[in-house]
Amino acid sequence: MQEVRCGQCQRKLAMAEFVRLQIKCPRCGTLNDMRALSPQPERPGASTTKVCDDASKKSPGLAGWKKPPG
Ligand SMILES: [Zn+2]
Repeated sequence: MQEVRCGQCQRKLAMAEFVRLQIKCPRCGTLNDMRALSPQPERPGASTTKVCDDASKKSPGLAGWKKPPG
């Protein structure tokens, strides 16, 4: 939680935890557009990794395998 104060008259408006907040000061009427001071950075490694699994589709050892007569 952080203290939300008016940017104009420094009146304490609220205690809040926010990403973005718009609050109008009841004292001076200033509309305060606040943003969180320390936004959490996006986590790395969001990219999708493609797994090349082509080898398991066809096994060269079994490709020419024929059923023995019997
Ligand atoms: Zn104010």
